[in-house]
Amino acid sequence: VAAPDRLSSYRSKRDFERTSEPKGKVAKAPKGAPRFVIQQHSATALHWDLRLEQDGVLRSWALTRGLPWTPDENHLAVHTEDHPMQYLDFEGDIPEGEYGGGNMFVWDVGWFEPHEMLDDKVVVTLHGQRAQGRHSLFAFKGKNWLIHRMDPPADPARQPLPAPFPPMKAVPGRLPTGDGWAFEVEHVGVRVLAQVSGGGVDLFTADGEDVSTRFPEVRRMGRAVGSTEVALDGVLAADGGEQAVRRRLEPASSSTVRRRSQREPVKLLVFDCLWWDGHPLLDVPWEERRERLEALALDDVAWATPTAHLGDGKPLRDAAKAQGIALIAKRRSSPYRPGEASKDWRRLGG
Ligand code: MN
Repeated sequence: VAAPDRLSSYRSKRDFERTSEPKGKVAKAPKGAPRFVIQQHSATALHWDLRLEQDGVLRSWALTRGLPWTPDENHLAVHTEDHPMQYLDFEGDIPEGEYGGGNMFVWDVGWFEPHEMLDDKVVVTLHGQRAQGRHSLFAFKGKNWLIHRMDPPADPARQPLPAPFPPMKAVPGRLPTGDGWAFEVEHVGVRVLAQVSGGGVDLFTADGEDVSTRFPEVRRMGRAVGSTEVALDGVLAADGGEQAVRRRLEPASSSTVRRRSQREPVKLLVFDCLWWDGHPLLDVPWEERRERLEALALDDVAWATPTAHLGDGKPLRDAAKAQGIALIAKRRSSPYRPGEASKDWRRLGG
């Protein structure tokens, strides 16, 4: 039974003079199917809020890694207070310092079949644009619940992210001619593979060492990538050059890491996208990988995608040469070959 005070906890946490979130009221039971929303919420930690309509309010859980795509892996679902029905289409910036401060947008909205709607267990089939299939949620410890996908994966060909692999390398070469090439500035620093899943970022060096915890400023890139699962090739660069990045690689306490990340920040320069939502892109031509990479629109103080120049490389090569900078020429039709030095990537000058 819908009672007006089901939203009192929701209201008590918010100052409606300061936030544009709806104040809300308990709605009457709707005709037709109940609705759900999943909001991507960039609060203290990135998460996805799943809200299911029941008794005139939205029962809510914060999914720290989003929806599981396979029955093999359950995700944490932190139970949160009921929200008003008006939250179904809420998007915007909740002010810093307020409860849930940060940007929120509708990741998906749709309707669901309610199979079981108990206090400690919920089974629903979601019918959204992105979220599909039968899921169960069950309480296991206090407000911590788990969400389990009961249906087989919506994309049966989907594969988990692979183990870290070494980068493709360039070989010294001459300026190629014709329009089948792209030219990038060679950035000096430490080459890393960045794997992003459920908004979390893992960083691996070329020999497979996990250095994720050393670069908290780069790990925030998960917020920019969101729910897309990707593997990215890039270089960690710093104002102090390669040596400055190498100092950051040394093991240190978390307080030292935090201090170094502020005093000697690095920037991840991403130039290739090797995996996309369960599908390898290694055999895909460079220019299609580049399109995927640009779709991520990586542009921040701690991460970015440098320009790739198409067409005649000679003016760029001459300018780079004058400044003692090397270029990497990449054949636009070429696949990515982990660990290989390939003539499809030519290092020019420097
Ligand atoms: Mn939230």
